[in-house]
Amino acid sequence: MINDHLFLQLLNCQLKGRYVLEEKQGMGKRPVYRQRNKLHLRDAVATRFNNVRDTADEVVGAEEETRKWLKEREVSICGAVIRSGELLTRMPILLKEGKKLTIVQIHGKLRKRTVSEIQPGSKQERDLTDYMIRAAYRSGVLMREYPDHSINVEFYFPDKSYISSKEGLYKYRSELSESTRGRNEEEFEKLFMKIDVTQSVADMVLNGVPDGFAQQGYCEISFQKLLEKIESLSFEELEAPVNPIAHCRQCEFRKSGSDISGCWELNFADQSIQYPDKHVHELIGHGNRRESENGELFQEQVQIHDGLHSFELMKKYGGPKISIQQRRNLQILSARGENVPTVWLKKEAEMLKDIQYPLHFIDFEAATYALPNRKGVSPYSPVYFQYSCHTLKNSELLEHTGWLDEDPDEINPGVAFTKKLAEIPQIFEGTVIHYSPFERQAIQNLLKQFRTGSEIRTEEIDILNSFLVGQKDQTNERFLDLSKVIRDSYFNRFMEGGLGLKQVLSGVLMCEKFLRSVKDDNECSLPMKNGYFFGTENPYLDIQLQNSSISDGSAAMNAWISLKCGLLSDEEQLIVPSVLKEYCRLDSLSMVVIFNHIKQLLNEFSEDEPGDIILF
Ligand code: SF4
Repeated sequence: MINDHLFLQLLNCQLKGRYVLEEKQGMGKRPVYRQRNKLHLRDAVATRFNNVRDTADEVVGAEEETRKWLKEREVSICGAVIRSGELLTRMPILLKEGKKLTIVQIHGKLRKRTVSEIQPGSKQERDLTDYMIRAAYRSGVLMREYPDHSINVEFYFPDKSYISSKEGLYKYRSELSESTRGRNEEEFEKLFMKIDVTQSVADMVLNGVPDGFAQQGYCEISFQKLLEKIESLSFEELEAPVNPIAHCRQCEFRKSGSDISGCWELNFADQSIQYPDKHVHELIGHGNRRESENGELFQEQVQIHDGLHSFELMKKYGGPKISIQQRRNLQILSARGENVPTVWLKKEAEMLKDIQYPLHFIDFEAATYALPNRKGVSPYSPVYFQYSCHTLKNSELLEHTGWLDEDPDEINPGVAFTKKLAEIPQIFEGTVIHYSPFERQAIQNLLKQFRTGSEIRTEEIDILNSFLVGQKDQTNERFLDLSKVIRDSYFNRFMEGGLGLKQVLSGVLMCEKFLRSVKDDNECSLPMKNGYFFGTENPYLDIQLQNSSISDGSAAMNAWISLKCGLLSDEEQLIVPSVLKEYCRLDSLSMVVIFNHIKQLLNEFSEDEPGDIILF
């Protein structure tokens, strides 16, 4: 059985379709909260239709219900399922009015109401063309089953210029009274703009998929022919393309998993490749398209173009900072098995010795959602719902403070967020350490909100201003962006390219493990022997409860939105807040670990060796 997802995979790469069919990887990694939030948006759009029915979650039951309800003259079916031969589709909403069927798709991308045309196939609207291919597939399946009906397609997008005139719109589901429901419907009419794409989808069904949006042999034929071709594929026929394709970059099957060899290793690595899982796409820096198009697929094959062919040359001519290009070269050298230092710490990192205590390692979480939480705000305005802070009072004493908005009735968590920030011990003294500019921007955004909202919030403004500048006698920099120190001054050979907090943490943990093994020293140099970090490979996995899957900022955001919108089961309502707290705590603690690792290198080595610290 081919469903919407499998069809789209097969369209680009047959082999990917085969992996999906085998369910060897990637399944179970679905962003469950995100999916729920998307359905929540769909239901908001559905409030404008008549005679709305919801199908069962399970496909067979949903298919039977759809068939039965489509016998009515007028109906709006959320989650409609249609099957035709080997093809199956599940639509967000299917409308029926007499002999007219309308496929309704809801997309989260903001759009200007004034731009009501879509040019399929254009580079600017690549995403929209993908949405249209999805709609064409649905249209094709429907046509086969309901040939005597006309088929229309409508896309709904949040309007870029919409400003909410209602408080707590995202909680529309819990407002069941008739009067409120009417007001919500009015708001949703204004929030979601409609684009009728019937003609463009009909053209696509007739003429086929635009060039560049499907593999060779699939673009030149009509959609019905394409459906027949894909439907007749046998499992054994699903093969790898002759060469890697653009889709490989994002493909979750490219690299090896815990119990499966990666696609590139199996299909594109010859005997000479030493590291078949070090791919060009993981090289730091922009692009990599040119290299992969030149056939440089594995890092060890990639050419170094700037003349700095060795670590010695980089050190001599590379300048005061470790550039992205140098990191890339080091990755390539490492993949070739050439000499690369275990640690390279630039002299500039010595500034960490002089920062003013107490140190507040702070991490904020924000949510952006198409349904605004408050009156007067636009879709996707950030809502700051959580923070975690580890305060290092001196080199030994570490204290944690954290806060998460768990109040189902609170529509503006920014106020409590600000007040709770003020409760961090000694927060208006010392240095605030963060990773990326996000935390400072958040403070500025909140200040703007409190200064320009319907009610000027002087108490919160004072807190945030003090947070920004610290005490009057503050002599050192108040903020330190640790990501900048890492980017400019720190490299270790275990880092896999990226400079995000989790990637750097993973590299630092491996480096610490290696340094301890070299020194034959079992003493953990990290601040908490019995915390998350001793002997664990991925601390973000260890904090999960019952497949909660909250291991990055996007999952945390979606989990909180689901919590706030009342989309969680009773059990999840208990689990999600505790995992969210642990997740944010871990982000803050990761900064402490990275900071201590660098401080320790500085303490141990900078006395004997003026200049960069280099350990092989
Ligand atoms: S890595 Fe490329 S060739 Fe392999 S399954 Fe994915 S998209 Fe297809």
